[in-house]
Amino acid sequence: MKKKIPGYDYGECEICDTPMQEKLIKQDFWVKGELIVVEGVPAGVCPQCGKKIVKANVGQWIAKLIKNSARIKKATKISVPTIKFDAKEVKV
Ligand SMILES: [Zn+2]
Repeated sequence: MKKKIPGYDYGECEICDTPMQEKLIKQDFWVKGELIVVEGVPAGVCPQCGKKIVKANVGQWIAKLIKNSARIKKATKISVPTIKFDAKEVKV
């Protein structure tokens, strides 16, 4: 007997028609020049091309969250490598 896969059916990828797999992902957003990372977001991920989709209510929650500056202020801060583009290394 086939086990029923729990969770939401994300259907097939709109780009390459591969069945989407449910995963918890990290999503990053730039809000007013600040990088915000939201962890553990349930999303459908295409194993073929990497396309990600989230459910409408998840998207709405994130949209609200990234406008909530008080909550962002309280969030854990991480440091990320930041490298400035070097025009001496690459001719533009
Ligand atoms: Zn795809």
